[in-house]
Amino acid sequence: MKIGVFIWGFVLLFFFPFTEQDRYQQQRERMVKQHLASRGIDDKNVLKAMRTVERHKLVPPNMQSYAYDDRPLPIGKGQTISQPFIVAYMTQAINPKPGMKVLEIGTGSGYQAAVLAEIVDEVYTIETVEPLAKTAKKRLIEMGYDNIHFRVGDGFYGWEEHAPYDAIIVTAAPEEIPPRLAEQLKVGGKMIIPVGPMSASQELRLVTKQKNGKLKIKNLMPVRFVPFTRRN
Ligand code: SAH
Repeated sequence: MKIGVFIWGFVLLFFFPFTEQDRYQQQRERMVKQHLASRGIDDKNVLKAMRTVERHKLVPPNMQSYAYDDRPLPIGKGQTISQPFIVAYMTQAINPKPGMKVLEIGTGSGYQAAVLAEIVDEVYTIETVEPLAKTAKKRLIEMGYDNIHFRVGDGFYGWEEHAPYDAIIVTAAPEEIPPRLAEQLKVGGKMIIPVGPMSASQELRLVTKQKNGKLKIKNLMPVRFVPFTRRN
């Protein structure tokens, strides 16, 4: 009897924490297989990052069991964390590589920033809603990310001090491409951005800055993002 209690104590103490981690790891593997690899995500760095980032740690506690479903989830303050497929798709579109410096507009939960931080050298991320920025910063630091730089403000102006960027990811939809963001993109660099009004359909656009400074714009697909809000 006593030995039974001892064994159960041992099992609970030593194995339970691992099995919870394993369970999330398995859920991530399934998410990558079912929703990403089967739908055109084939960049090895992106797949590895999607397998690694602990999305369940970046959503509200009551949403954790849905963290690896392919859907957006509410993160408070009327904002959402994008669905994993869209995050992977946008990340793949900018062709991220080690050595790169990337700007993100719309930190939100911090998930997209973490996915980028797994691949590139430095991530600069701007969020207009201060409590969201604070929560994301706290969680990402706890998770061990030391290459993500945070700023509270209007992403319309970009982050001039660290420009130019190899790539820019915008995760809220403005009605037009903010000109300052295009200016802060390197020649040959790519920006991915949803553009269009909230009420009508938005287009996800891939913008490449050409040698002559002009922008080459490709429409990728219709999407629905939260609006890009301006600070007065
Ligand atoms: N990348 C986020 C997605 C969050 S949704 C994630 O992975 O969870 C988009 C975010 O953009 C929201 O948090 C919203 O508050 C923010 N946002 C909207 N307009 C903005 C602006 N002008 N500047 C910076 N952030 C903005």
